[in-house]
Amino acid sequence: MNHIIDNEVLLRLPKVDLHCHLDGSIRPETMWDILEAEKANPFKDLEELKANVSVPLDCSGLVEYLKCFDYVLAHLQKPEYIKRIAYEIGQDAAGENVRRVELRFSPILHTAKGSTAEEITEAAIEGARESSLDNNISIGVIVCCIREKPPELSTKVAEIAAAYKGSGVSGMDLAGDEKNYLSGIHHEAFRIAHENGVNITVHAGEVMGPETIKYAIDVLGARRIGHGLNLRKDPAIMEEVRKKEIPLEMCLTSNVHTKAIDSFENHPLKYYLDSGVRVTINTDNRLMSDTDMTTEFRRANRYLKLGLDDFRKIILNGVEAAFMTDNEKNKLRLSVEDEMKQILNHNDETRSPNDEN
Ligand SMILES: [Zn+2]
Repeated sequence: MNHIIDNEVLLRLPKVDLHCHLDGSIRPETMWDILEAEKANPFKDLEELKANVSVPLDCSGLVEYLKCFDYVLAHLQKPEYIKRIAYEIGQDAAGENVRRVELRFSPILHTAKGSTAEEITEAAIEGARESSLDNNISIGVIVCCIREKPPELSTKVAEIAAAYKGSGVSGMDLAGDEKNYLSGIHHEAFRIAHENGVNITVHAGEVMGPETIKYAIDVLGARRIGHGLNLRKDPAIMEEVRKKEIPLEMCLTSNVHTKAIDSFENHPLKYYLDSGVRVTINTDNRLMSDTDMTTEFRRANRYLKLGLDDFRKIILNGVEAAFMTDNEKNKLRLSVEDEMKQILNHNDETRSPNDEN
C-alpha cells in the first residue's frame, strides 16, 4: 500500500507545536526589516540572508547550529521586534492549521540595549495574545534558562516564569549547549519554578545520554523532555518515561541538522511511538531549519512511513502534553478529535480498492 499522504491533507491536520523557538522561527522578511532598522544589513538580498541564517546541510553539529542564533540574537534587542515575531509565528502556524503553538525564548538574551527581561517577556505575551485573537490559534509562551549562562540569570528567568504564570507565561525550559554545559548549576532556578507550580520542560538527551533525561525529570522536575533522542540507550529510564507518560518533543529536521541523528530514516520517533512512549512532532526552529509543521509531518510520513492513525495519536499526545489548563485542553481535544475524524472518514471514502492491501 502506498504510504504517501497528500500534502493538502497534511496541511489540514489540526496540529500542535510544543517546541518552537521564537528567535529561531523569524520570517526572513522580518529579519531583513530588523537588520534595516538597525542599520546593520550586510546582505544584498533575501536569498543571501536566508543562506546565512539557515543551517547548512553539512552543519557539524549542535554547537555550529547554535552559532546561527548568535547572529540573529545580536539584533533582536527591542520589545517591538519580539512582539512582531510572536505575532507572525502565530499567523504562520495558523496558516497551516496548527491549533496550539508554544513559543519559547529566553528573555535574558534580549536585554543588551537596555530593555528589561520583564519588558521583553511582556512583548512576547502581547504579540501572542493579539495573534491568538486575530488568527484563531492558541499560543503559549515558555521562558528559557540557558545552560551556558550564569545560574543567577536562570534564577531571574524562574522569577519571571512565576510572576507571569497564569497571565501569559505557560512554562519554563532549559536550553542551550547540552554538550559542554551540564544542567546541575541551574537547579536553584528549577527549584523556584517547581515551588511556584510552573510547568517545566527541559532540553535533554539531544546529544547527551539518557542520564540527562533522568536528571531533568528527577532533579529539575521536567514534565516534558525536549528531543530525548538518546532515551533508548537505557531501557530502565525509557520504561520510567513510558510509565510516567512524559512526552518527548521531537523535531526531525533539527535533529538531522544538529547531527544528533544521521538521517531521517534512522530517526527514533517511530520506535518510541511503537514502544508506547508519548511522542510529539514539533518544528524547533522554522527559520534555521527552513521548516514548518507540515514539512515535519511530511518527513515523518515519507521517511518513517507514519500514517494518519499514527498522526492522530501524535497530535492527541501533543494536546495532552500542552501547558494549558484542563478546561482549555478539553476544548482543544474535542475540536482536534472532530477535525481528525473528518479527515480520516474522508480519507477512507476516497481510498481506491487497490489501496486496500
Ligand atoms: Zn529546542
